[in-house]
Amino acid sequence: MKNDTEMIEPPKNREPRAWSGEIPLTSFYTAGAGGQIFLHALKTQGKLIGTRCSPCEQVYLPARSFCERCFAELVEQVEVKRTGKLVSYTFCHADHNGARLRRPVALALIQLEGATTLLLHRLLGVSDPGEVKIGSRVETVIKPKAKRHGTILDIEGFRILQ
Ligand SMILES: [Zn+2]
Repeated sequence: MKNDTEMIEPPKNREPRAWSGEIPLTSFYTAGAGGQIFLHALKTQGKLIGTRCSPCEQVYLPARSFCERCFAELVEQVEVKRTGKLVSYTFCHADHNGARLRRPVALALIQLEGATTLLLHRLLGVSDPGEVKIGSRVETVIKPKAKRHGTILDIEGFRILQ
């Protein structure tokens, strides 16, 4: 008889099994309390709203409902500037299904002025890493109001300022 604490070994001499097929799943995710503040302001006013934790000297963008450092509830909303600094970037050559893209897509981590966190989005107007320099000033490009739907894609991306 086996002890209850004994490890259960996987069956030996058996190939892993797989079944081909599709499972039709759809999901609905909420943006959360902080995300709602951010997305609503982005859609209706074209503003970038974060939340501040004064004791931790953090301004979270997008807005969050609690501080990740001290877990305090965050109620102070802060408008963050559209301009900021390019902190990191990458070029993607495949889409999320692994299919090769016709043209690579540049993504960048940006620290906007007034925020202490980084925002990830597309880097617009570049097609080659030679055109990108860490530390460059960038500007957030927000879609016109008629084309905004209350998603992160209401931001088109970041454009490098010369
Ligand atoms: Zn905090």
